[in-house]
Amino acid sequence: MIKIKTADELAAMRIVGRKTATILRKVAAKVAPGVTTQELDEYAAELARKEEGRCAFYGYHGFSGHICSSINEEVVHGVPGRRVIKDGDIVSIDFGLVYGGFVGDTATTVAVGEINPEWQRLLDVTQECLKASIEKAVEGNRLGDISNACQLVAESAGFSVVRDFVGHGIGREMHEDPQIPNYGPAGRGPVLKAGMTFALEPMINLGVHQTQTLNDGWTVVTKDRQPSAHFEHTVAVGKKQAEILTIPESDG
Ligand code: MG
Repeated sequence: MIKIKTADELAAMRIVGRKTATILRKVAAKVAPGVTTQELDEYAAELARKEEGRCAFYGYHGFSGHICSSINEEVVHGVPGRRVIKDGDIVSIDFGLVYGGFVGDTATTVAVGEINPEWQRLLDVTQECLKASIEKAVEGNRLGDISNACQLVAESAGFSVVRDFVGHGIGREMHEDPQIPNYGPAGRGPVLKAGMTFALEPMINLGVHQTQTLNDGWTVVTKDRQPSAHFEHTVAVGKKQAEILTIPESDG
């Protein structure tokens, strides 16, 4: 069942969304050559403590990080550790925060120094995918419209959409109904209603869409080891347009 949030619940989700996005922005700003993913993780934990929030991923099914940090061919769920970030890397950071009884979930992929132009195009297109999906999160549309909008943008740019991981409903729980694939036909699935809240998160690959999970049991990589990008916002379906809930403080 897809929950419809009340005005009070949406207000609480705006607060946690803003905190989540502000922390992600600060952590993303620390990404630089020579920095380890562990350092980013510790910084996220410190910022969450200051906000009196709880990191949603920490301890989730035993996950040891406060963020997911996924570099280059890593798609999602990279475990922070001793890996040192290098010039030319792309670093995806995914962060979830619990505050006031609700969860915010947001991700970005950062280019480190000078990157391959094709990789930059992958980042740009993945952001366009997220934007296209968000534009469909409007009352009266179908869930499949969100999925299809993402797939069209990705595939017309020559990239592929990850099938093995999907977006999700979000609220008091990090993962609520429905599952939201980033691919599939338009005009199918549940009719959207204002007050539904979704974590939309295209994962787009330069090469094939298939993925593998490494022996650590967490880190998901592309099967062909070509790079992958990931951007995510928590959004509320609106009557005329979607509202992005994970907007950082400095954006007003
Ligand atoms: Mg998510």
